Amino acid sequence: MIKTVLVGKKKEKFADPPLFNERKEYRPADVKETGLAFVGHEISEDRTVMNQFLHYDQLYTIRHGWNSRFFIGLLDGKIMGTHCPKCGDSWVPVRTHCWNLNCNLEKTEWVEMPLTAKVNTWTVAGWSGRSSLKRLPIILVYANIGSSKVAMANELHGLDPWDVEFGMPLKIVFKPKEQRIGAVTDFHFEPADFWKPSPMNNEKQRIKDMVAPVYEWVQTLK
Ligand SMILES: [Zn+2]
Repeated sequence: MIKTVLVGKKKEKFADPPLFNERKEYRPADVKETGLAFVGHEISEDRTVMNQFLHYDQLYTIRHGWNSRFFIGLLDGKIMGTHCPKCGDSWVPVRTHCWNLNCNLEKTEWVEMPLTAKVNTWTVAGWSGRSSLKRLPIILVYANIGSSKVAMANELHGLDPWDVEFGMPLKIVFKPKEQRIGAVTDFHFEPADFWKPSPMNNEKQRIKDMVAPVYEWVQTLK
């Protein structure tokens, strides 16, 4: 009896559950959810060491909660950020509360960010997961979108790896609407239309020499 009363009281603290009236499935036909399964093991000659093989394949639900508008924005080809109504700082990836001590954890508000960014830092990947091997070398940047005080990671396309510069202006390019899934891979960065690479120098040449073998190796992939 007591337990029932407590549960009832507790429930009142929560908002009404959302009504999900838009649902999309894009699971590839060949995915079989087998859950977590022990699929084998190996034991050393002297039977003192054992390895077990665990197949880990199951459906997860990522509940985005308050952050949902960022991911819904991606589906709509928008970058949604948050800003503090007190001090004006803004963020993508988003923050729920302002980080400035003087703002006393002020709740942030949603704002649509411009589709422009600036390189904060970057690296060139010469290795990757199997699905991206043929696209190597890949330029990964952390970029500040619009006026965001924090940087967001994504791929930079449309230029040679040795031409990337700190602070270079970028634009955000979305996949066609029908290909978007509400993940950060729905967009990538490209150089701003007005940007031109600076002339070759020693540092650029060093990077060019380093990625040459990667380009060569990718050519050998089938
Ligand atoms: Zn603030």
